[in-house]
Order: sequence, then C-alpha cells, then structure tokens
Amino acid sequence: MLSKLPSKLTSFGIAAAFMFTLADLPSVQHNAAAANAKIQDFSISDVTMTDAYCTNAFSKEVEYLLSLDANRLLVGFRENAKMNTQGAQRYAGWENSLIAGSTVGHYLSAVAMAYQNPNLTDAQRKSFSDKLDALLNGMKECQNNSKGRPGFLWAGQVKNPNNVEQQFDLIQQGKTNIINEAWVPWYTMHKMIQGLVDVYNFTGKETAKEIASKLGDWTLARCRTWNQQTHNTVLSIEYGGMNDCLYQLYEITGKEDHAIAADYFDENALHERILRGGANVLNGKHANTTIPKFVGVIKRYEVLDGKTVGGKQIDASKHLKYAEAFWDMVITHHTYITGGNSEWEHFGMDDILDKERTNCNCETCNSYNMLKLSRELYKCTGDKKYMDFYEQTYYNSILSSQNPETGMTTYFQPMATGYFKVYSSPYNSFWCCTGSGMESMAKLGDTIYMHSKDALYVNLYQSS
Ligand SMILES: [Zn+2]
Repeated sequence: MLSKLPSKLTSFGIAAAFMFTLADLPSVQHNAAAANAKIQDFSISDVTMTDAYCTNAFSKEVEYLLSLDANRLLVGFRENAKMNTQGAQRYAGWENSLIAGSTVGHYLSAVAMAYQNPNLTDAQRKSFSDKLDALLNGMKECQNNSKGRPGFLWAGQVKNPNNVEQQFDLIQQGKTNIINEAWVPWYTMHKMIQGLVDVYNFTGKETAKEIASKLGDWTLARCRTWNQQTHNTVLSIEYGGMNDCLYQLYEITGKEDHAIAADYFDENALHERILRGGANVLNGKHANTTIPKFVGVIKRYEVLDGKTVGGKQIDASKHLKYAEAFWDMVITHHTYITGGNSEWEHFGMDDILDKERTNCNCETCNSYNMLKLSRELYKCTGDKKYMDFYEQTYYNSILSSQNPETGMTTYFQPMATGYFKVYSSPYNSFWCCTGSGMESMAKLGDTIYMHSKDALYVNLYQSS
C-alpha cells in the first residue's frame, strides 16, 4: 500500500523482536504498570529516528501541528464558559460540531509526544511548550468558570444555552440525533482527558494533571447518578476509551475515585461474550467503538491487577484473557493483509473480507487503536505475534496513511480495486482520523525498541 517505502523496510510478517543483552540502558520513562511488566517502553526522548521516510513524516507533522492556533482551538471552550474568545474563530469541520474538542485532545497528545522527540529542534520544542501553556491556561480558566457542574469543561456546540451538559443528559435517555440532540460526548471527553494525561506524562506540566483530575471527579459524580438502565444506555453509545484514560489518570493522581470512575466504563458482559468466542461475534459492531474498550481492558490489567482499591484487592488477571481473545478475533477474522479492518466503520461477518472490499475499508483510527492494544499485549505477554502485527500495520496502515508531501492523513483506506486515498484538509476536516493521525506521526519512534530488566528488544527494522 505504500507509494514510497522506508529505506529500511522489511517484508512484513518477518519475526520482529530480536533481543540483545544490554549492559547500560539509557534513561527510561517509568510508571507503575511498567514496574510489573516483563517488557517496558523506552521514553520517546531516548530514540532518534534517522530513516528518511520517517523523519520526513515527522517533520511534516511538526509543521502542521505548529501551524494550528491555540486561540482558535480554545474558542469552543471559551464560548461555553461565556468567556472572551479574543476575536478568534472556531476551526471548521468536526471542530465546529457537537464533538468539537476531540481534536484538541488528540492535539494535546501529539504535541506532548513531539515535544519529547529528539528529532525536534530547540526552537520547535520551545514553540510547542508555549502552545501547550496557552492551551492549558485557557482550558483551566474555562474550567474554573464552568457553566456546568464543578470540573466540567466542554468545547462542543451547545444547543441549549442554559445547559452546557445537555448532550450528556440526552445520551442517558438514548437520544442520539446528531443534528439536534447528541453525537458522542463521552468519546470526546475521552480524547480530552487522554490528551491532558499525555501532556502530564510527557512534559510534566502540572496544570494538565489538575484539569484532568477535575474532569475525572466530574465524571464520577455524573456516573453516580446512573441507575442500571441509564448505565446500560450510556454504554450502548460510543464512548471511546473512557476506561483507558481514567485508569491512566488514576495512575498519576492516585485518587481511588478515578479508578472507580474507570470501572463504570468496563463492560463485563461484552468481555465475557468475546472470551466465549464462536462465529460472527463482532458482526455489525462499530469497530472504532469496540477496539478502544479493549485498550481499556488491558490498561485495567496493567494498572489495577493486584492493587487495593476501596479496601478491596483487585484481581484483573481475567482482563488479560479478554484482551487476548478480542485481539485474536479481530486478527483472525476481520483483518486485511495491511493490518486494517472494517467496512464503513463496522466489522462484518467473519472471514468475508474480500466481499467487503470497497472505498470505505480500514478506518485509520482502527489501526491506530489496534497498535495501542498490540504493544500493551506484547509488553504483558512477550508473545512476538503482537509485534509481527505491529510491524505489518505500522508500515502498511499507519505510515501509508500520510501524504508524504502535504502531511495530511486518511480516514478510510480503500481495499477495492481502482480506488484512491482521500486525505484530510489542514483546517476544514478535523475528522477522528485527522486527530489520531496527528498522534501516529508524532510518536513514530516509540516502539522501535523496548527492554526488560537485562535485555534490549528491537521490534522494528527502522534506521534509528
Ligand atoms: Zn477515525
């Protein structure tokens, strides 16, 4: 699928994960989960990319991220907090819709990752730091002047000026008309919290943790109002990886409330259904709704297994089994040779990939999320099949999702014969895949190497 191949590209499917004994490790980003894991990440700051294709992809992304204006990204937040928008206009596309702010979340993550990248110049790093400060200060001010419940922060269009939380209320009633009711507010909230957590983890900026912590408190306060029926209704509508970002928030705040909030977004019935297996279990399911749920499942295992929360010791060992079973199901029955999956954003019947080749296959967010799941499963199990898939998908679905001349990224990646790729526009699209594309291109070197206590793993053949 690549028009230009990275100079050190191997044929996909080759066994990845070669292992070398290592005497001196460079500095390592540690976290609580990593302490228990067999295999651990390096910091993005430890790996300098030298591959010409990847350094170009990264520099195009940096150019794009630097071109976005913090004041324009803040307009929605400021409007909803009834604050001065400083003469700025909202961006167009999805950033001028009910889910505005979702790109801001991806942007925070991408800029924070790029900030750590050694391929950045000092001047670029300073510009990114300034942009993050402008965004964080603006978001904090809006949160402190929230017109919703304490901690609420929101950039999406609001249909009822007297109720900035209206979409969350309507979702609880199952109302999802995206013209005049609600789109996917929890999906958007996930992106915002994840962006803030990433900024804290990658740059150490305390303001990001403070804002995210208050959003976590707001989330739990709302979850506690749900009866069982409301809870089921909310979980039936795309909510991204709310469990994933809240488990990560718990890791950095240590507040049990954030782990309890995350638990509201774990769907045990779905997990058990996947583990039981059988034919066509995923048929008709929205792929990019379902995959992040299992990224959250593996995160629960990594963060909570063996921990004590609310006076109870958590056994999350089964969550590793759930995530493994889901991964196997997607790879065995729903994945093209490029690593992508889905048609019109949905999984179909098992094993009918050829019959579903159209111009709308392989939503790029799905590949981005499957890579997130794969690298965590690899770290937990050490099974090289996860890195084989990672390598295949990284080259054929992720690197290939970017136009190397403009830096813009794809939504779908057509598998039907004769179709071509459509890339987002810089300031008028802001699709989900524009946002996940920002992140993918900002963290290109993050999986080339991993390590255990006394060994170095080389996962990808990429000059670095
Ligand atoms: Zn997408």
